[in-house]
Amino acid sequence: MQDGCKINGISLVAPAEITAMLRSERFREARTAWQTWLDLFRDSSFYAAIVTIFTGPCPPGGTQWERPYDFELFGSLGIGSGGFLPVFQAGFTEILRLVINGYMDDQRLISCGISTLAERIAGENVSGSTVAERIRFDGVGRIYKEGAEIKLVTEKDEIATFDRVIVTSNNRAMQMVHCLTDDETFLSRDVSRAVRETHLTGSSKLFMLTRDKFWINKKLPVTIQSDSFARGVYCLDYEPHNPDGRGVVLLSYTWEDDAHKLLSVLDKKERCECFVDDLSTFHPELARHLVPADEDYERCVLHHDWLTDPHSCGAFKLNYPGEDVYSQRLFFQFQTANDPASDTGLYLAGCGCSFTGGWIEGAVQTAINSACAVIRSAGGDLLPGNPLDEIRSAFCY
Ligand SMILES: Cc1cc2nc3c(=O)[nH]c(=O)nc-3n(C[C@H](O)[C@H](O)[C@H](O)COP(=O)(O)OP(=O)(O)OC[C@H]3O[C@@H](n4cnc5c(N)ncnc54)[C@H](O)[C@@H]3O)c2cc1C
Repeated sequence: MQDGCKINGISLVAPAEITAMLRSERFREARTAWQTWLDLFRDSSFYAAIVTIFTGPCPPGGTQWERPYDFELFGSLGIGSGGFLPVFQAGFTEILRLVINGYMDDQRLISCGISTLAERIAGENVSGSTVAERIRFDGVGRIYKEGAEIKLVTEKDEIATFDRVIVTSNNRAMQMVHCLTDDETFLSRDVSRAVRETHLTGSSKLFMLTRDKFWINKKLPVTIQSDSFARGVYCLDYEPHNPDGRGVVLLSYTWEDDAHKLLSVLDKKERCECFVDDLSTFHPELARHLVPADEDYERCVLHHDWLTDPHSCGAFKLNYPGEDVYSQRLFFQFQTANDPASDTGLYLAGCGCSFTGGWIEGAVQTAINSACAVIRSAGGDLLPGNPLDEIRSAFCY
């Protein structure tokens, strides 16, 4: 797509060129270019869009894709981060947005593990106590209002009262646990609909700690992408300076249907065996090494299914075609703080309420937006350039 493309006589700017516009702060040009993509593809699935783009009379690259072979191949290989076949029905603009924003570029392995980020934030000392020490409850259930007061039901069935609330648990919890969409106490009917109907992907991961980094000595592939049961296998070296260190193999990182299938195999060992048996049919040498350190499946295999996680009930937002309008409603909900008539004192945040579900950027941006909303609502002052006064919807969805 590096030269852009032309569809029905309309020229579309190359995604990489829009990225360059954003980097050099040519925002007006970037907006115009992105709106053209939106106008053509806002109602298209990822699959429908690539059919339109690559089977038309002048496809990018000059060669028309062949059905079904090229689409199946692309579905298995994706755009650099594993197979995309299970997300072919997602909205095309959701996928293109993450490419344009460059979220998959310049990836870095964090050797101490990404959980260290949350642990260090929790350990930050702010005015004499750490962030962790300021956590008041482990779980929050229903959120409701009595007069001007916002009440939270805690995990111990106690009631806590607040003036303002920012909700950062995900869209499913907003509906099912906090009951925010039951009536219009906190959210307008349109925003409630967006909370309820936003699509969350299913996802599943399984990691294995291995005795050694066998793939390095044995010159085996670092990653395998396939259309088999074990879709994507990644061998990870968290200790590049220690040749005798343990290995980590991400044996399965799957989305949607591929992740749903795994829900029927609950036992870790059994699930590992499914993947290893599958891999052994086409890469027996690699499969042979997929045994957890000390053969300890309990301690050395970690897996997580987001769909059955009671705190998330789905991994992250990835809307269907025509549903960017939901992201728009959720993203701008914080601006209710600008008008006492619409201000309910509750603001939504988290990447599920942004345009970039599944990426920390959307979570950080909506967190800042809602924190500013609390300040405005409580009568505080915000500096010029703040998101309540400066961010306006720039696109027609
Ligand atoms: C499978 C997967 C892969 C991802 N990959 C990437 C990636 O590669 N790059 C990237 O940038 N981002 C990625 N993300 C997205 C990233 O994890 C999120 O954007 C980020 O974690 C959002 O931060 P947050 O603090 O808003 O919410 P979260 O990190 O989701 O934190 C919300 C917290 O609220 C808690 N909670 C839920 N319900 C309740 C309740 N009732 N009471 C109290 N607490 C509750 C949850 O347990 C959770 O700890 C991925 C997410 C998933 C699920």
